[in-house]
Amino acid sequence: MKTDFDVIIVGGSNAGLSAGMSLGRSLRDVLIIDSGKPCNRQTPASHNFITHDGWRPAEILEAARHEVLAYPTVSFLESRVNKASGSNNDFNVTLDDQRQFKAKKLLFATGIKDLMPAIDGFAECWGISAIHCPYCHGYEYRGQTTGVLMNGDNAADYIKLISNWTKDLTLFTNGQATITTELKEKIWSRNINIVEKEIEGLIHEHGHITHITFKDGSNQPLTALYHRPAFEQHCSIPEHLGCALTEQGFIQVNELKKTTVAGVYAAGDNSTPMRSVASAVAAGNFTGAMINHEMISEAEWAA
Ligand SMILES: Cc1cc2nc3c(=O)[nH]c(=O)nc-3n(C[C@H](O)[C@H](O)[C@H](O)COP(=O)(O)OP(=O)(O)OC[C@H]3O[C@@H](n4cnc5c(N)ncnc54)[C@H](O)[C@@H]3O)c2cc1C
Repeated sequence: MKTDFDVIIVGGSNAGLSAGMSLGRSLRDVLIIDSGKPCNRQTPASHNFITHDGWRPAEILEAARHEVLAYPTVSFLESRVNKASGSNNDFNVTLDDQRQFKAKKLLFATGIKDLMPAIDGFAECWGISAIHCPYCHGYEYRGQTTGVLMNGDNAADYIKLISNWTKDLTLFTNGQATITTELKEKIWSRNINIVEKEIEGLIHEHGHITHITFKDGSNQPLTALYHRPAFEQHCSIPEHLGCALTEQGFIQVNELKKTTVAGVYAAGDNSTPMRSVASAVAAGNFTGAMINHEMISEAEWAA
């Protein structure tokens, strides 16, 4: 296999494969390296992406890989990038197995890692009935007995959003609510109960919640639970290269998807809170074009 590429894309899921198509069609030699852990891998059906609504996430990626790898300019490796070094137009990338590759530009499409709360059963239900986004999964749970796990004043806006899909709602604060009395009254005025008991776990059948249990020994029937977990970058290499992060923990990019390090780009979940397959595909598509544009700008005119 060759070792010298125009662009190496770290992360070959929705954003990375989409960028690979833009770059491959721009006649750039591209290597996509992917460690096979997209954030939505446990969800049985991915929604709200036209042409693929309801597909399994793995099916979407398989179809994407099939199309992208039809371009002879694009190569794909199932592996994990362990290290990257160098500077604009001269980057080195090392895999876990110590293989090394070179590239003029790097694109990180590495996503984020959701940090599961310390609630028994939550991780098993994640993406199935413990969900983060009403646009992705709210329709499937419309009208059902639903909880929102959140505390603080932001909970009021979030529960108002979710009440678009179901009125059978409870707010679980998992300990004393830190919500102003005014906002609590707004929540109660919508017939939404606020439960401040500490949560023990989720009883579920193959990821489908049936009950939420509390540390005081009580429980309550439940079908779905919304939660926005804390997260960290799935890959810390951009930070080691010197890329700045935003206050929220995303890779800082400008309107061209350039990070704060010359020649290094980021696209997809790692650099935006707009989290969806469609957004990641759009970001990858755009970033591929921007990288190609930079390479054209840097090239000398032929004599
Ligand atoms: C549980 C869940 C359900 C969701 N459901 C939906 C839905 O129904 N509809 C919808 O539109 N959106 C949904 N989303 C959001 C959607 O999945 C993401 O927005 C989208 O997958 C982001 O794509 P990405 O390519 O940026 O990151 P990811 O899909 O997370 O992919 C990142 C890739 O980078 C790889 N990687 C990371 N580090 C390295 C490394 N060092 N070397 C090599 N590879 C690396 C990972 O293995 C992974 O394959 C869901 C998200 C979650 C968490």
